Amino acid sequence: MEYMASKTIYSDSYKDLTAILRDAREKAGMTQEQLATALGEDQSFVSKVERRERRLDLEELRRICIALGVHLSDIIGQWEATIATDPSRRGMLRETPPKDSGWSAFNWKSLIDWFVQSGILTYKEVAALTLGHLNPSQVGTSIASKKTFQKHFPARQCWAAVRQWHFEQPGKCIDCGTRLELQADHIEPREILGDDADRLENMTLRCRRCNVIRRPSHKQGGLTFLTAEAGLMWILFTKRPRTYQEFEKHCREYGMTMANIRFQESWAMARWLEREGLYEIDKDSQF
Ligand SMILES: [Zn+2]
Repeated sequence: MEYMASKTIYSDSYKDLTAILRDAREKAGMTQEQLATALGEDQSFVSKVERRERRLDLEELRRICIALGVHLSDIIGQWEATIATDPSRRGMLRETPPKDSGWSAFNWKSLIDWFVQSGILTYKEVAALTLGHLNPSQVGTSIASKKTFQKHFPARQCWAAVRQWHFEQPGKCIDCGTRLELQADHIEPREILGDDADRLENMTLRCRRCNVIRRPSHKQGGLTFLTAEAGLMWILFTKRPRTYQEFEKHCREYGMTMANIRFQESWAMARWLEREGLYEIDKDSQF
């Protein structure tokens, strides 16, 4: 029985948890002795926990978190993030579904967690970027600044009408329902109606992505949730091509029609991360 128990304790997953706890103790500037005192235990208790000779239950884990001044949910969150990474892939993301349309909420969350764990991004940056894209910036003002709209209103009254139209919108993309990156777009396009398209009754809100994929030049766009610029990074971080040639091939297979120089520009991220040990590039990479 003893053998079985210690075998379970030494699972990779449990090692991850004890490593996170030791890390949290060191960050809190506490010795094993000090933590033990705070817990009302002997120093050997902490030592045994960290050496995985004693398996913690949830209540004990919670008490340790309180003593360290960290949130239990943070420790669990860090532990959970290790599920997304694969030690055999040098701590990179585990294998994920090949197409982003097949990604679950777990996959997306894992990607963000991995960005934070690897030090590429902070949660603060992710939140700040999201906040910026929630702001319907230049949705109304872009309309009100156009002469083709202004001509329908008495002088200096265009903005008041646009503002009313703006407030009455549902605040979501009419096609996909997202609140992010909204833009004003025509219901009947300008290609059909010309300047007559520029009337408030003919305007709606679409997200940037849905706006782009409606254009005939972006036939492949509907295959993915991501905009092209996001897709480029998604390919880089999830496919992790080891040469520029491979990256370009992935991009073309993904349906991207842009010029190669755009791929080369994005490839800079691989070069930057390589210098910090966060990406691997083979010697025969073209760039
Ligand atoms: Zn949309």
